[in-house]
Amino acid sequence: MRQFIIILVTASVLFGWGKTGHRVIGIIAEENLTPQAKEQISQLLGHTDLASISNWADEIKSDSAWDHSHDWHYCTILEGHEYEGPEAGGYAVKKVTEFTALLKKGTLGKEDQLDVFRFIVHIVGDLHQPLHVGNGTDRGGNDVKVTWFWDETNLHRVWDSQMIDGMQYSYTEYAQQIQLGLSEGDKQSMLDPNVLSFVNNSRAVHTQVYDIGEGKLSYEYVYKNRELMEDQLLSGGYHLAAILNDIFK
Ligand SMILES: [Zn+2]
Repeated sequence: MRQFIIILVTASVLFGWGKTGHRVIGIIAEENLTPQAKEQISQLLGHTDLASISNWADEIKSDSAWDHSHDWHYCTILEGHEYEGPEAGGYAVKKVTEFTALLKKGTLGKEDQLDVFRFIVHIVGDLHQPLHVGNGTDRGGNDVKVTWFWDETNLHRVWDSQMIDGMQYSYTEYAQQIQLGLSEGDKQSMLDPNVLSFVNNSRAVHTQVYDIGEGKLSYEYVYKNRELMEDQLLSGGYHLAAILNDIFK
């Protein structure tokens, strides 16, 4: 039993947006690919789609051969700064940049190309979970103990999955809901492949994310943060599409 508890705790520390969050971002990106990108990605992926492969980078954490990838899922921006590089902790930005350049170069073998592609899809999603852009003091909110309705948890987990799961939508329903009423102008403004702008934005919303009073989070916290969370998922999908469209021209 004790071992089981330890495994559960570790899992909650390591995972990014829960499965639903990554899939929502994947499906929105899929819908906004250019025909050229769509064609090249379907040749690479075969019979699957972005939503289905979006959690692969978390699943492989069960394989020790990928232990070196655990710090590719987050980055750190210290208080009062903008992104300055991986030395503050976490390689997410560095890896997205490096892997994007590798795919553009087009010299990887098919297996490596697929791995690198699946990492980009996942990490871009993670970087829209505000607590995957950490402040360097509390392991991305994992050390901030809170209650979520009646359960003891931490702030990171609330943002990874508990708030999303509480909405009780499937990922396809959620992707549809949060795109309702979007204008062409809204879409175009989000189709921006600049990684640093969305990373700095994820950090900038921390003031709101960390506004937790005494840490008893329930309806009021959802009421205040639902729109922010949905904006992050929505813009995550469009930013991912823009990055992929830029790679597969
Ligand atoms: Zn992750």
